Amino acid sequence: MERERARRQRRTRAIVLAVATLLVAAVVATGTLFATGVWSLGGDRMAAASVSSTGSPTGSPSPSVSATPTPSASVPGIPAPSFTPEPPPPPSFDKAALSIDDPTSPWVVVNKLRPIADGADYGPPDLVDLPADMPNPNGYQLRADAAAALEEMFHAALAEIGVQLVAQSGYRSYSVQVRAYDYYVNSLGVAGADLTSARPGYSEHQTGMAMDILDTVSGCSTDGRCFADTAAGQWLAANAYRFGYVLRYPDGGTPITGYEFEPWHYRWIGVPAATEMHDTGVTTLEEFFGLPAAPDYAG
Ligand SMILES: [Zn+2]
Repeated sequence: MERERARRQRRTRAIVLAVATLLVAAVVATGTLFATGVWSLGGDRMAAASVSSTGSPTGSPSPSVSATPTPSASVPGIPAPSFTPEPPPPPSFDKAALSIDDPTSPWVVVNKLRPIADGADYGPPDLVDLPADMPNPNGYQLRADAAAALEEMFHAALAEIGVQLVAQSGYRSYSVQVRAYDYYVNSLGVAGADLTSARPGYSEHQTGMAMDILDTVSGCSTDGRCFADTAAGQWLAANAYRFGYVLRYPDGGTPITGYEFEPWHYRWIGVPAATEMHDTGVTTLEEFFGLPAAPDYAG
């Protein structure tokens, strides 16, 4: 009987020990699961914990954080990532890169206040004849770069709108300008001539980088507004910058340029500057280079 009682007591102790061990193990396991967030009561314990860890240092996990995460629920108080680099500013166009005084510079500005330096003696260094496939009834020349750009522009007009452009007037020497200006003075008087023709030494045409452009179909001349309303005139106004040309005497520009609207007169300044003028909406060289308006001669 003694042995039987002792054996029951040992079995009872073993059962109690096993139950106690199981209970302890269960408590430890439950605590671990809560602590690591594998189990949670709110359903979004991890999100709430991350809000408090990166948000306000005085905040504590908010029980009001939605149990259904939404983009806005997971970001309140989180500053935008600070490591995104600022995009670099667009490179600014350097308007001082080339001379506006040297008559050989593509950017030279010639107007009624800015005669060509040594104008009576100046002739461009690299005049060329225009290619034979470019209508050029008066046989005018241009400087090499301006001529190459003009040829590209003529080809593009033909390809894009099917119109053949015509080179009506290019380089004019000082002595030719003397005759042209005298012709206008005789027919219009000095005031009338000064609105339409430069005095000798003051003409862009003497730089070899200006061209009067018409077409073979409209019948317009270098007079009045006729050419502005043609397909060619409108295509040139919109596209000449692609080839480095700008409409030099725009509509409404007379108080600045000193000349009436000349929808046929284009000046080559190179693609970078012409594109910058186009992109910034500046329509005269005087405004582009910050020069005074030149409505009239100084004296
Ligand atoms: Zn002209």
